[in-house]
Amino acid sequence: FSSVELTTHYLDRIKSLDSQTNAFITVTEEQALQQAADADKARSAGNATQLSGIPIAHKDIFCTEGVKTSCGSKMLDNFIAPYESTVTEKCNNAGLIMLGKTNMDEFAMGSTNESSFYGPSTNPWDTTKIPGGSSGGSAAAVAARLAPIATGTDTGGSIRQPASMCGITGLKPTYGRVSRWGMIAFASSLDQAGPMAQTAEDAAMLLNTMAGLDLKDSTSMDTPVDDYTADLNNSLEGLRVGLPKEYFAEGLNDSVKTAIEAAIKELEKQGAILKEISLSTTSIAIPAYYVIAPAEASANLSRFDGVRYGYRCEDPQDLMDMYTRTRGEGFGDEVKRRIMIGAYALSAGYYDAYYKKAQQVRRLIKNDFIKAFEEVDVIAGPTAPTTAFGIGSIKNDPVTMYLEDIFTISVNLAGLPALTAPAGFADGMPTGLQLIGNYFQESKLLNIGHKYQ
Ligand code: GLN
Repeated sequence: FSSVELTTHYLDRIKSLDSQTNAFITVTEEQALQQAADADKARSAGNATQLSGIPIAHKDIFCTEGVKTSCGSKMLDNFIAPYESTVTEKCNNAGLIMLGKTNMDEFAMGSTNESSFYGPSTNPWDTTKIPGGSSGGSAAAVAARLAPIATGTDTGGSIRQPASMCGITGLKPTYGRVSRWGMIAFASSLDQAGPMAQTAEDAAMLLNTMAGLDLKDSTSMDTPVDDYTADLNNSLEGLRVGLPKEYFAEGLNDSVKTAIEAAIKELEKQGAILKEISLSTTSIAIPAYYVIAPAEASANLSRFDGVRYGYRCEDPQDLMDMYTRTRGEGFGDEVKRRIMIGAYALSAGYYDAYYKKAQQVRRLIKNDFIKAFEEVDVIAGPTAPTTAFGIGSIKNDPVTMYLEDIFTISVNLAGLPALTAPAGFADGMPTGLQLIGNYFQESKLLNIGHKYQ
């Protein structure tokens, strides 16, 4: 069948079902059908690439030229991006069809999707529950079959945790593997874009499209890009899998633990060698992250001042009034909380006590992983301590929400790649096995995810 038929199928599903999942902020129907017609033409002219004609949903954090790019915020509710991000441009060039832009926590701050200005997306497995966050709209769209693949971004778990909660596959690449150009910044030293899909194979194909050096992002890396589909079928015989004892300790929900242990048994059945390891910095990763990420966010978000783009308050009296009311009215509670924490941690009197300490902890976390990878090829464990919980159940409890990130944020602080693969169900809701690899070992992670699935 043609790309126009396939695209129409997904657009119809979005029309009839997205009132329940609220996965999309914007649906770009006309543009999608045009792209699909072009892809069909290219195919009949013999110019098709592997993914041309396949629909995709993009997280609303990627600037897409001529299309609203809200980042889940009132601040950018009226923002039409004047240029295209590298990731979406690469997808367009590969012939992928953009169905629309997906819901997310405001400025990617959150683990539940509830901080979105557009209301939370819901979990397709139980729409009274959260899809996870911040890339919850992308995860819900793929899980509900409203899109076959999607993009996400992960600063502290935002690809992996919603993938786990919605029962799909998500990969956070090595820092620098995928360009951040045109991706609205949250915490620049942690942010990384990656694929979200039903299978590791689909994620591999999408990563092939997304990855690579980009001179417009000075942190993107010149390391050669693998063909991520090439090693999918490698045997797991002799693979050394590290199980950090800190990831199976107190705080991990019992049913999630049972599901993850069963997944790890399956790896063992396929020839993997299990080894207990220790990542002793696990417990200090949350405090370090919740200083570093807000510090970077407070600097990045200073550009939203009502002057150049986005929201501006009504009838400002003077410049100061415009700044304060624009930011006071345009940002939601979680974003304001982060800006205040970040500005405090960076202020002259507290810099050494908080920011510098957090950076020192960050180095220790990285060292912990470097040491672990001397003994094992990959690290396995849960993605999140729980499955999806009820919408509203922790809404006014930011600390409980921050604790959800315990197994994901160390990976971002160290800049490592990690894959979440569906690991069955715990108490009726999906949960995901997390596999952490050494730098630029995305192929190995996708190989394990593929063999496991
Ligand atoms: N939950 C984490 C936070 O709120 C991670 C978010 C993300 O990865 N974008 O900061």
